[in-house]
Amino acid sequence: MKRKGFEVILMPHNANRIRNITLTSFKLSGILFSLLLAFSSLFFTNLGRIWVENLELQRLRNEKVELKERVKEFVSKTEELEKQMIRLEELEDSLKRLAGLPKDFKLMGKGGPEVALPPISAKSLDKTLDNLRKKASLQISRFYEIKKEIEKKGRYLSLIPCIWPVDGEISSFFGPRISPFTKRMAFHKGLDIVAPIGTPIKATASGKISYTGWKEYYGLNIIINHGNRYKTVYGHLSKIKVKKGGKVKRGDVIGLLGNTGRSTGPHLHYEFRVNNRCVDPLKWMSH
Ligand SMILES: [Zn+2]
Repeated sequence: MKRKGFEVILMPHNANRIRNITLTSFKLSGILFSLLLAFSSLFFTNLGRIWVENLELQRLRNEKVELKERVKEFVSKTEELEKQMIRLEELEDSLKRLAGLPKDFKLMGKGGPEVALPPISAKSLDKTLDNLRKKASLQISRFYEIKKEIEKKGRYLSLIPCIWPVDGEISSFFGPRISPFTKRMAFHKGLDIVAPIGTPIKATASGKISYTGWKEYYGLNIIINHGNRYKTVYGHLSKIKVKKGGKVKRGDVIGLLGNTGRSTGPHLHYEFRVNNRCVDPLKWMSH
């Protein structure tokens, strides 16, 4: 009986023996089916890979767009920072003016040339940010220097006797006058301020109590040493409320007004001495 199918003859080069393989329709269908299966699986595997790669590509594209947007945002924020730095520099100038410092007031051992900032672009963003960081750190140092100067000036100003030691009326100014005691011309070394007995007497500047006690002319009196060779004297008191060596701040109550010593009535005799020479206290009293 004749079989349906193909006969495959295999002839190896180095052998005499010829091999016959008979491929029946069934076997052939099996082989074709297997081949089809292999190709299909290869096709679908590749299709899957392409699909995954496409997804990745889309994700990267989206990411790129997002990054571009973020870079734009960074550039605009950096520009804003630059503007703020300029405002800080303006503020620095105002502070210098207020502190009475020269505009070109130099930092102690700090500074150095400042690099001009290039126009901001995505590529120069790194450099721009770095420059801004340096500028900001320099700016902070400058503000600290100015703060130190202001504090120094504030300390110095707190030592100047500029307030009224007591609320009252001036009965005798600094300078030559006819003495109420001798009826002759004499130099009045201070300011007499009239107020009721017991009115609080205030330190006119910060300092250290260098004397408390009784003297013939001054009666019960206090001397405050403010440093800078500044001293103030408060005479004719009825009561002393501080002790020698104690520290006082401007405005602290140091005693009470009285009528002790050589005095014609209740008043405060107030002196301001610079380098042990009396000066007109009124010229320094602002409020
Ligand atoms: Zn006097």
